[in-house]
Amino acid sequence: MQNNWKHNSRNTLKGASSCNDFFQISQFEDQHFPIKIPLEFANLIDKNNPEDPLLKQVINSQARFGSSEFFLSPLDDESNAPVEGLIHKYPNRVLLIASRVCAIHCQYCFRQNFNYAEHDALSNWLAIEDYIRAHTQINEVILSGGDPLSLSDEKLQALIQKIERIPHIRTLRIHSRSAVVTPSRITDQLAQILNQTSLNVVVVLHSNHANELSSEFVKNIGKLSQITLLNQSVLLKGVNDSAQALSDLSLQLFDAGVLPYYLHLLDKVSGAEHFLVGDQCAKELHQQLKKNLSGYLVPRLVRDENGEFKAWIG
Ligand code: SF4
Repeated sequence: MQNNWKHNSRNTLKGASSCNDFFQISQFEDQHFPIKIPLEFANLIDKNNPEDPLLKQVINSQARFGSSEFFLSPLDDESNAPVEGLIHKYPNRVLLIASRVCAIHCQYCFRQNFNYAEHDALSNWLAIEDYIRAHTQINEVILSGGDPLSLSDEKLQALIQKIERIPHIRTLRIHSRSAVVTPSRITDQLAQILNQTSLNVVVVLHSNHANELSSEFVKNIGKLSQITLLNQSVLLKGVNDSAQALSDLSLQLFDAGVLPYYLHLLDKVSGAEHFLVGDQCAKELHQQLKKNLSGYLVPRLVRDENGEFKAWIG
């Protein structure tokens, strides 16, 4: 059924108490970034394993420690927003905050404190359109959030059609984690919308571990086989900080028709200190990946600094 994903997006664990009941553990605590776990994702977690790599992404650490190197808004996106709802860091592309909603709350998310109330691209579309039309060097629009696939197919299609009408825009990029954690979101209608637009379409998924790639994900992502599919991951201590975990992820993504694209070093957001993998360790892991995998399966190891991606030569 087309609307299964809407039902599934409401089928979500929220708050520590419901999570502790569901997983029959007492590791969740209500904290700053509210817990939100879709059941489609929760059902992939091994309830008997407190070290489960999927569980660790959504759980609050009980051993938090403050660090002066971690910030509420480490990338300072808001100061790169010339128009509310639009972030412009690179000459040829802009990023729109298409939705404030995510299917899941990842406890390492660098945008967990983002001022979504003031940055809603849909309600500020006219100003955004004026800005893009006035900057003819922009040829790519990135839909981000939150998660742009939290929008209904109708709203998403309407937004894409508006973008299509700007003559110098050639490429639409969609950043989405919900396509991985709630694969029912990849509907036939969504596939039709993305296949029919006159824009080049790139979907950049966000998956951090092979265990996230369920059989339903593999089946549904096949609906987007005409589209360029890439993946970005975040290197997370205790989740995917081993050559084996990262190699397995690359291989399974490729089996599903997705190319590994970026492996991000952690953005230093307050509360995510326990996820940090040191630079030297990250470089060594990347070297190991180069030995284990064909070159096209090795994601670029990158860090976002001062609004610019800095590629690391591992
Ligand atoms: S889905 Fe993306 S934007 Fe949403 S909480 Fe996770 S990392 Fe952040």
